[in-house]
Amino acid sequence: QVRVRFAPSPTGPLHIGGVRTALFNYLFAKKHGGVFYLRIEDTDQNRFVPGAEEYIIEALNWLGIPFDEGIGKEGGFGPYRQSERKAIYSAYADELINSGWAYYAFDTAEALDELRKQDEAEGKTFIYNHSNREKLDTSLVISKEETQKRIDAGEHYVIRFKTPVGETLHLNDIIRGDIKFETNLLDDKVLFKSDGMPTYHLANIVDDHLMETTHVIRGEEWLPSMPLHELLYKAFGWEAPQFAHLPLILKPIGNGKLSKRDGDKLGFPVFPLEWKNPDGTTSSGYRENGFLPEAVINFLALLGWNPGTDQELFTLDELVNLFDLERVHKAGAKFDPEKNKWFNHQYFGRQDNEVLAKELSQVLLEKGINKPVEYITEAVRLVKERATFASELWDLTDYFFIGPTSYDEKATKNWKPETNEVMEQLITVLQNTHDFSSANIEAVTKAWIEENGIGMGKVMQPLRLSLVGAMKGPHLFDIIALIGKEETIARIRKAME
Ligand code: GLU
Repeated sequence: QVRVRFAPSPTGPLHIGGVRTALFNYLFAKKHGGVFYLRIEDTDQNRFVPGAEEYIIEALNWLGIPFDEGIGKEGGFGPYRQSERKAIYSAYADELINSGWAYYAFDTAEALDELRKQDEAEGKTFIYNHSNREKLDTSLVISKEETQKRIDAGEHYVIRFKTPVGETLHLNDIIRGDIKFETNLLDDKVLFKSDGMPTYHLANIVDDHLMETTHVIRGEEWLPSMPLHELLYKAFGWEAPQFAHLPLILKPIGNGKLSKRDGDKLGFPVFPLEWKNPDGTTSSGYRENGFLPEAVINFLALLGWNPGTDQELFTLDELVNLFDLERVHKAGAKFDPEKNKWFNHQYFGRQDNEVLAKELSQVLLEKGINKPVEYITEAVRLVKERATFASELWDLTDYFFIGPTSYDEKATKNWKPETNEVMEQLITVLQNTHDFSSANIEAVTKAWIEENGIGMGKVMQPLRLSLVGAMKGPHLFDIIALIGKEETIARIRKAME
């Protein structure tokens, strides 16, 4: 059974790159009838941010890609918070010590700084591995007894991985294909610290194994960790999951990676939900900015993947059916805020009129405007295709609720001396029309225009100006039908003054 995980560190709000990783894991799991689980990687207590875990869970739920297993959804592989699994990891670190795949290191930060500086002076990059073995203060150069004595004396130590020397690793990534890594270029990474906490690398591998992860789908920034991770599986004698590293998400302009700060700088959200920063500022969220989760999901699905057709709009079910890691691109994907809005526009108009009417009712309430819900619903139905956000509904419907208070200047110029006469006749026509449905008013008005050879524009333009105040809005006869006979005539009369 396919089991994939989303494994964020709760160091702040989930940004768009993290959401995309979660989404691709979700799609892959669902496509294969597998499990999508959430694991909170909180072993680094220094970077822990209160509220981040709750934020991540709320965001996944809002987006409609909830996890099957995780905090609050026990699936037999918990606990799902690494801080609660602390006791598990130390035995695994010991195992690697015993098998010779890891060793104790006592180097102080100052000593390492010194070594780094020396290498820099010679134009080399310091690598913590066999190439510096004699200079390093580790159990590989001191005796077993000496090592034990120092540990017993309470000296600070870390456990490091002993990277094999002089090997070329040929690894496979589902998206990137075969990748070569030279082990001589790898650092002997820290796996465990004397405070009893594992590092990301050890905890991540142990948990992926214990939680029976079949595929690791994560951002490209983790690609450099892949050789160490594969070596750790080998050291433990475990079968490694398959890896897929997703392409970076790039800034809209230039080539850099999209950063958490870009959003508010450029005026668009890069977080699913609003987030209060510790410094009191707020980072804006999709939800609070009127984006629909379906639109965000659809947009993100196409950041680095496409099904190979021109289709752009997909329901979540369609995405699940079509998704395929083989079709994920290697190259970075540009984040395009305009496209982001375009998707929202597409989804906005598909919402139920009743739902949108409720949103508009809020605004009307604030303005002290009272209209039956059926009226508001109809107004919304007529304009919703033109809107991208609920916040635009009032501007698009205001003339349904209050007559024009000013008239578009350019359009007013077309109000000829004879227009008043034509409008006077139109009023009579409308007064005599009893079936006030849009279709009937249209038929009657057009028949009258034709019979009298008036010219369509000579009627329709001033009529729209009278009712709306500008040359905008939906089908004119739909407007007339909704605002009603009395209001229509009153507005024409007002415009004639
Ligand atoms: N905790 C890591 C992160 O914050 C997980 C990386 C991985 O998926 O292995 O992204």
